[in-house]
Amino acid sequence: MSADPISSDDTTRCWCCGNTVDPDRMVRLGRHPEARLCLQCAHFAHQQALRIEDREKRGPTVFARDTLRNLRGEVMRRGLHQNKFIGGWLRRLGKHLP
Ligand SMILES: [Zn+2]
Repeated sequence: MSADPISSDDTTRCWCCGNTVDPDRMVRLGRHPEARLCLQCAHFAHQQALRIEDREKRGPTVFARDTLRNLRGEVMRRGLHQNKFIGGWLRRLGKHLP
């Protein structure tokens, strides 16, 4: 029997999406180690934090980044990232864009 008061089911469940994940592939939150996020939700939270910080920033680099993000969103909405001819290239490109 473990001394950990959290059940084994809770240690593998993401607090954001609820998916069951290998505990070694989860992010724990500083003072609340019982709160765990899967890597996908941790990346999402990171992107949300960057967007909140960026709301007050201005300048040409912010404009360029926002334009790229909008273009990326349009590609996703149209499903071009799943196109059999250019989808692979777009997905690789997307990993390097802000
Ligand atoms: Zn998750």
